[in-house]
Amino acid sequence: MFDYSIFAKELENLKEQGLYTYIKTLESPQGAWLTINGKKVLNLCSNNYLGFANEERLKKAAINAIEKWGVGPGAVRTIAGTFSLHNELEDTLAKFKKVDATIFLQSGFVANQAVIPAITSGEDAILSDELNHASIIDGVRLSKAKRFVWKHRDIKDLEEKLKEAKNARRRLIITDGVFSMDGDLAPLSEIVELAEKYNAMVMVDDAHGEGVLGSHGRGIVDHFGLHGRVDIEIGTLSKAFGVLGGYVAGKKELIEYLKQKARPFLFSSPLSPADTAAALEATKILQESDERVKRLWDNAKYFKEEMKKLGFDTGESETPITPVMLYDAKLSTQFSKELFEEGIFAQSIGYPTVPKGKARIRVMISAVHTKEDLDFALEKFEKVGKKLNVI
Ligand code: PMP
Repeated sequence: MFDYSIFAKELENLKEQGLYTYIKTLESPQGAWLTINGKKVLNLCSNNYLGFANEERLKKAAINAIEKWGVGPGAVRTIAGTFSLHNELEDTLAKFKKVDATIFLQSGFVANQAVIPAITSGEDAILSDELNHASIIDGVRLSKAKRFVWKHRDIKDLEEKLKEAKNARRRLIITDGVFSMDGDLAPLSEIVELAEKYNAMVMVDDAHGEGVLGSHGRGIVDHFGLHGRVDIEIGTLSKAFGVLGGYVAGKKELIEYLKQKARPFLFSSPLSPADTAAALEATKILQESDERVKRLWDNAKYFKEEMKKLGFDTGESETPITPVMLYDAKLSTQFSKELFEEGIFAQSIGYPTVPKGKARIRVMISAVHTKEDLDFALEKFEKVGKKLNVI
């Protein structure tokens, strides 16, 4: 019999170090408030930036799609065929992102796994920011290309690495657009200039930029006015879009190539009709109006400014992501626990999601929080912050 005590021991270790994540069970949909253990708590944890996860129009679209298309796709698209609904989502996303074409995958995580090994091989070089998301790191691991990791947002270091990689057949630079744990932005304009100088491709993971940055939440490429100069954009449909799924956006040849070569496309079934229709509806709403995006930014600006006034260290975020830096993992876990008792759901984040010694509460503000919600959060942060001698 296999000795499972090794897992039990490791779990104990995690608990001792304050690195064990207690997953909360929700008794309500995602929104500004949640019910957990019968208790109403303010939700500061979700990536549901615009409140689409429980939005009426998306729910109706999903229900109608189930009536029309059923619940499952049958098999992978290359074998069972693809619903016209799937194609409509890809075409609508392409228009929204102002690119030739898109291909959706099962998640943002999978989108990174799909594209990186499909377009690189042993003769190529991949250059990756050291703080890139785990799904990029794992996607890079799936490729045989030579790896170069450059210092976070350090353009000089990237240039050094590009020089080292000059003999590679192709060079692929990959960066998160918005870094999900700190909320800082990639210096995308400078990266694109370097890529043009060293004949490299640029790939940006826009998971936390969509619905947040640029006109109508088109993302980081729009924010920096770089349309046509970024080769690959990775998107997720699970954050601001409020649903599930991921996608790759770019030139028509690239997307067509991925439909022939990307393994998660070839070997795993696509999104269900309900997910597809809901994501399509979210894209339509974003195209129609940027009102929610504006509300998100107003809320985030207010919350961040007030937190700073209270004396909290909220890092270098340039987006609604608000890290409340506590550094020590045990303190951070304790802070989160105390907040929960006060009616606030704000999870502590520690290693390996962030580097050791950089534990934090990551506050995610949304467009559906009211001013009263934010004031409630500020009051409770102040109370717990004083109690634990953080401020
Ligand atoms: N990329 C980044 C930068 C992310 O933050 C995330 C979500 N944590 C993903 C990709 C994965 O997205 P999904 O949840 O759709 O798999």
